[in-house]
Amino acid sequence: MSINETTVEIKLKNLKSNLDFLKSKLNVKTKFMAVVKAFSYGSDSAIVSKELERLGVDYLAVAYTQEGIELRKVGIKIPILILHPQENDFDDILSNNLEPSIYSFRILSFFTKKLNKENIKAYPYHIKFNTGLNRLGFLKKDLQKLTPLIKQNLPKYIFSHLGASEDLDEKNYTKKQIEEFISISEIVEKDLNRSIKKHLLNTSGILNYSDFQFNMVRSGIGLYGFGNDIKFKANLKPILTLKTVISQIHELKPGSSVGYNKGFIAETPTVIATLPIGHADGIGRQYGNGNGEVLVGDKMAKIIGNVCMDMIMVNVTEINCEEGDEVIFFDDNSYTAEEFSKKANTISYELISSISRRIKRNVSR
Ligand SMILES: *Cc1c(COP(=O)(O)O)cnc(C)c1O
Repeated sequence: MSINETTVEIKLKNLKSNLDFLKSKLNVKTKFMAVVKAFSYGSDSAIVSKELERLGVDYLAVAYTQEGIELRKVGIKIPILILHPQENDFDDILSNNLEPSIYSFRILSFFTKKLNKENIKAYPYHIKFNTGLNRLGFLKKDLQKLTPLIKQNLPKYIFSHLGASEDLDEKNYTKKQIEEFISISEIVEKDLNRSIKKHLLNTSGILNYSDFQFNMVRSGIGLYGFGNDIKFKANLKPILTLKTVISQIHELKPGSSVGYNKGFIAETPTVIATLPIGHADGIGRQYGNGNGEVLVGDKMAKIIGNVCMDMIMVNVTEINCEEGDEVIFFDDNSYTAEEFSKKANTISYELISSISRRIKRNVSR
């Protein structure tokens, strides 16, 4: 295999081991929804979703309808939840057999209009409640108006989303969200006079609040290998490695500058390496000017100057290396995306979900 290019390596064996670990926190009956929005958090939607389907997850979830259509196009058969449908999506949602999250009266009216037009009496959907994240969803006070509107075509599930399940200093906030969700559920079930299935927990919810797993959980970041807490590092394994090779090496005299707008000025004799990856590939400008660091051999090299669209330069003055040598941005053990992203004050979610599609994917089992 040629490594003379930037590549994302996807380790499917780590995906399976993460799924097994997350499932070990759940009752056997609890269903598992794998969240594969944003190109499976930047990995590769088709590859990862097909593998998850093969491994027996019950459901997939994506943010937008187009993402669901893409999954159907590559042959995914299991149910797919669309977390954030838009008003003009319902033709596509029905024709692709996708399940919408209904989060507002406005979206409910577009959904109902479509069902009426097609004369469809029952169609699966999920109702989303806002229990404190204040992003999407109905409130408890909406129930009086809402329940009569959903009596004819009952929701398959009701759900909500936790806003701080990874933050154990915010246990009270999470407990309030959980209580609010339970309270809303009780009212809905009483008004509809039957029990309705529920889902609430994201990855950190599974890890920290597994008593509230209800009928299904929704996990994204954990499948990709991050638990938002160092204590899960031994159990969850990143599925992605991002690596490249040194394109060119330059030896600079003191006073020389590097990159656009002279972002770095050499004060002493400095050796720099140019790498074929830039902000268009997902390594944002926040990693420039000494913030981000990459692994060259077993040594750390700082990203210097401003990150360009297609290239970055790193300081290799103290490192024995040559053009063509491998450089690791992050991998599955020695230096993970969580650690790389921390150097620029961001999180693994942002870093991996930004990896551009122009980078080649290599899959290993
Ligand atoms: C993204 C998302 C998830 C997955 O969260 P993770 O922290 O990645 O497990 C679950 N539910 C909703 C509504 C989401 O938007």
